[in-house]
Amino acid sequence: MSGVAVTQDYVDDSITFDSFNLDPRLLQAINKLGYENPTLIQTQAIKLSLEEKKDIIAKASTGSGKTAAYCIPIVQSILAANLSESQIQSVVLVPTKELAKQVYDYLNQLTIYCGKNIKVLNLNDNASEQVQLSLIDELPEIVVATPSRLVTILEKNKRLDLTKLKYLVVDEVDLILSYGHEDDLNTLTNYLNLKQNMQVFLMSATLNDEVNSLKETFCNKPAILKLQDVDKENKNLVQYYIKTNDFDKFLLIYVILKLNLIKGKILLFVNDLDRGYRLKLFLQNFGIKSCLLNSELPVNSRLHIVEEFNKNVYNLLIATDESNEYDEGEEQDKKQKKNNNATEYGVSRGVDFKNVACVLNFDLPTSSKAYIHRVGRTARGGKSGMALSFVVLQKEWGKHKIATLPSAKKDEKVLTKIEKTQTKLGYELKPYQFDIQQLENFRYRMEDAFRSVTKTSIREARLKEIKMELVTSERLKRHFEENPQDLATLRHDKDLSKVRTDNHLKRIPDYLLPKGARKDPKKIGFVPFNNPHKKGGRVRKNKRKVDPLKKFKK
Ligand code: AMP
Repeated sequence: MSGVAVTQDYVDDSITFDSFNLDPRLLQAINKLGYENPTLIQTQAIKLSLEEKKDIIAKASTGSGKTAAYCIPIVQSILAANLSESQIQSVVLVPTKELAKQVYDYLNQLTIYCGKNIKVLNLNDNASEQVQLSLIDELPEIVVATPSRLVTILEKNKRLDLTKLKYLVVDEVDLILSYGHEDDLNTLTNYLNLKQNMQVFLMSATLNDEVNSLKETFCNKPAILKLQDVDKENKNLVQYYIKTNDFDKFLLIYVILKLNLIKGKILLFVNDLDRGYRLKLFLQNFGIKSCLLNSELPVNSRLHIVEEFNKNVYNLLIATDESNEYDEGEEQDKKQKKNNNATEYGVSRGVDFKNVACVLNFDLPTSSKAYIHRVGRTARGGKSGMALSFVVLQKEWGKHKIATLPSAKKDEKVLTKIEKTQTKLGYELKPYQFDIQQLENFRYRMEDAFRSVTKTSIREARLKEIKMELVTSERLKRHFEENPQDLATLRHDKDLSKVRTDNHLKRIPDYLLPKGARKDPKKIGFVPFNNPHKKGGRVRKNKRKVDPLKKFKK
């Protein structure tokens, strides 16, 4: 989780880490991570945990420094205890495998100078059962897992003993509960010595009744820390919407991307799986590269995609947010659906996407809550960011069958709700001003490309991508254990082929550009142009000539 600073408003610059009497090895690691001052939640949690041994319930979201707020006291207390024998002292529960990996990596950074005094184990790392059991036998001081994984292991064999546990963390409690892990948490209580010298951290973006019920089960007179919502504090986010129709969304996205109208990395959301592939294939026609993040991809690939996106290898990530796949008004057993989508939701929610310049809602989410979660991925760490949402006009909905999505039927209503909540948070959504006529020049090419993406080509691409990623995923695991330096060269934004790609579509002739932009591209009226060839521009060339992954191709 290093590399990105927390939201500046949260940094507590009245205090330094030195004042907590932390172990020098831990201080050195904090220093290496580049932290100068603790964040507000860290100051409070470190003191309450180390000095008052309090259970802590914290309302905190990503960007507040919440991970360090529980990791630092845990590492400090393990070092201070300096037990002569290894013992499982802490369990950190997170909602998804992706988060398990992030927290695991973070703990490794924090314990980098602790030698063998602190071993960390990620139970969700896809290692074989035998390997995991032998790692459990080594009695790691800290275990990171999703609740279901931990319970499976506890129930299957008796080698994991949690009776001497000193710290239990449940991170992203609201997500864990919405994923239907309540039963797992209840089962877990059978394996713990709750309320006996055990400190509990419950971290949650929202504190609702469900979180309160966990408080009764797990906590003993907890201190409750409430931080102002990140979004309330963050004034660096500008939000726009464009009212359009189902089909013109494709025209808009083509023009916006082809003309580089948005500077920096874009996290684009669609509401269903096929849609993601349709969009990727469509953009591919114009030579616009993107990579997909969806629940069908094997977990290793997903982790790698997020890592690479965070390292700025890709500029455009198309994330499928399947929680918004269905119409809110539809008669469905929502809870069931939610639970089924548990892991899917996790492909984007809760994940620490870094340096996102723009969140682009190609498909509007179906609730204002989901909107807040999505746009919270940009304008972080004091940086500015932009959210741009395409909103389908109700009277236009359904006119173009292939481009239509059921969820878009209520876009206008959802927009009204979003505007209401954003106004409460002190934000304003503005209509995006541009000259629609400028787009018309591109319509013919867009229609051509749209036609080339058929249902069959989507199905083939989807199958092919999954097959490819499955093979890669397995080999990835084995190969990268031995050759970590190759990790950088595996790309997930390759063309999906099978779709007819007309080279002429990849180039934009001058006559298509709006008049003012022909000589001076900066004159187009959306958002500023970005020159990829300039220093700091969007395109990052891979300088390696030899692709060691070629051998992975069948
Ligand atoms: P989190 O809210 O835990 O997801 O952390 C968000 C980001 O802030 C991560 O990249 C952390 O490494 C970083 N971070 C955490 N604490 C601090 C701090 N005290 N100073 C600067 N950055 C921090």
